[in-house]
Amino acid sequence: MTTPQNQSFTTQIVHADRLGGAEQGAIHQPIHTSVQYGYEKVEDLIAVFQGTAKGGFNYARQGTPTTAALEAKITKMERGHGTIVFSTGMAGICAVFLTLLKAGDHLVASQFVFGNTNSVLGTLADLGVEVTTVDVTDAANVAAALRPNTRMVFVETIANPGTQIPDLEGIGALCQQRGVLYVVDNTVASPYLFRAATVGAGLVVNSLTKSIGGLGDALGGAITDTGLYDWSRYPNIFAAYRKGDAKGWGLQQLRKKGLRDMGGTLSSHAAHQLALGAETLALRMDRTSATALALAQWLEAHPAIARVHYPMLPSHPQHAFAKKHLKAGSWLLSFELRNPDQCLPVCNRLQLPIKATGLADTRTLIIPVAHTIFWEAGPAVRATMGIADSMIRLSVGLEEAEDLLADFEQALAGA
Ligand SMILES: *Cc1c(COP(=O)(O)O)cnc(C)c1O
Repeated sequence: MTTPQNQSFTTQIVHADRLGGAEQGAIHQPIHTSVQYGYEKVEDLIAVFQGTAKGGFNYARQGTPTTAALEAKITKMERGHGTIVFSTGMAGICAVFLTLLKAGDHLVASQFVFGNTNSVLGTLADLGVEVTTVDVTDAANVAAALRPNTRMVFVETIANPGTQIPDLEGIGALCQQRGVLYVVDNTVASPYLFRAATVGAGLVVNSLTKSIGGLGDALGGAITDTGLYDWSRYPNIFAAYRKGDAKGWGLQQLRKKGLRDMGGTLSSHAAHQLALGAETLALRMDRTSATALALAQWLEAHPAIARVHYPMLPSHPQHAFAKKHLKAGSWLLSFELRNPDQCLPVCNRLQLPIKATGLADTRTLIIPVAHTIFWEAGPAVRATMGIADSMIRLSVGLEEAEDLLADFEQALAGA
C-alpha cells in the first residue's frame, strides 16, 4: 500500500505505519523487542552485514522494525531521502558532528543555539575541530566566516529561547555554492510548520522529544537526509561507505559510526510512543501556535512587559520571513519584564504553567532562562545570545488560551 503525495500531512502520517506491511492485521506498528535477528541461510545474514540486503536487521543497536517504522514516518514528514533515529536529540546532533567532522575541519555554527548544543561546540573545539559562531540572521556573517576547510554550517530554524530565525535561504544558497554541508535543527518548527529542504538543508535535525513526540513521555532524536547534498563532494566519507549510490553515503556513515559504534540507540518502546505522538503533530502545532500567538500579542500590550520574542509578531526582526515561510509560529515564546526583580515572583504567581525545563509537553512550561538553562553559559555568552537577566521562556501547551490569559492577568497585576 502507498499513500499518494497529494494527501494532506496528517492523512499521510496516520497511515504511515501500515506502509511497511501490517503483521496479523495490526493497524499500529508492533513493539519489536528482539535484540538479535536470525536467518534461515547464512548467506542472508552475510547480505545484511555487507549491506546488499535491503532493510535487513542484525543487532538492535543499529535499529529494529519498530525504529525503522518511525524513521519511515519522519522521512515522509520531511519528504526526505532517509532518516536515522537516536536515543535523544543530543545523541543525533553529536553523531552528526563526531562522524562527519575531524580534527582540522572548520564548523560554522549559529551563535543562537540550544544550550547543550553550544556546550558540544566547546567539546569539538577541544577535539581539534575549528568552531566559529556567528550571528546567522545575516548570511553575510556566515559568508565572512567560511574558510577553505569549512565542512559544515549548523543553524536552528527558530532559536531557543530568543526565537531568532537565521537567513535560512541566504545561508542555503551559500552552502550550495561552496559545497558545504548545511545542517538545520528544525526541532521548534517541526516539519509540519517548515521543511528545511525548501531552503537547501542537506541534513535536518529533529529532537523527537519535542514537537514530533509531543506528549512529554519519551526522549528521541532524528537525523533526516533531504537528498539535496552531494556526498561525493564530502571528503570525510570512509572508503567502506563510498559504495553504491552517493545519495546514501552520509546516512550509511551516520548509522555505522553514529549508531552502531557510538550506541545512542532509540529503544523500540520509545519509538512506538514517539510514532503515536507524531500522529497528532499537526493538531498540536495548530493549537499551541494559536495560543502562543494570542499570549504573545496580549503580553506585548501589557505595561509590565518590556519585550516579547515571537516570530508571528510584527515586532520580530525576522517577521517577514516567518510570515512567508512558516505555517505558524510554534509553541515557543519568551519575554522580558520591565522590572527584573519581578522575574521570579511572576513565575511563582502563575498557577497553570509548570515551573520546569523542557519543551513541547502537553502542559505549558515556564522557566527563567538566565538563572537556569543558561546559568552555566555565564553572562558573556548570554549577552551574545540575546538573553536578558529577566528573560522568561514559555513552552505553550494544550490548555485553552482563555485560561492561560486569565492566569497571566492575575500574575502580572502589580508587576
Ligand atoms: C531539546 C532540543 C535538542 C535536544 O533534544 P533532546 O531530545 O532533549 O536531547 C536539540 N535541539 C533543540 C533546538 C532542542 O530544543
